[in-house]
Amino acid sequence: MAGKKLRCRLGVHKWVLHHEPESGTRFYQCAHCGKDRSPDGALPPIGMG
Ligand SMILES: [Zn+2]
Repeated sequence: MAGKKLRCRLGVHKWVLHHEPESGTRFYQCAHCGKDRSPDGALPPIGMG
C-alpha cells in the first residue's frame, strides 16, 4: 500500500460493513486503509458517495 488516503489522514474513512460467517461478528472496515472499527458505540456517519 502506498499509504493512507488523504481522507483517512483527516479521519474521514470509507466505512464498509463486513461480517464473519463463522463467528457472526459484524464490523466496519475502511475500504481505503483497512482500518477496522468496532460495531459497539456510536456508528460513524456513512455517506453514500
Ligand atoms: Zn481509512
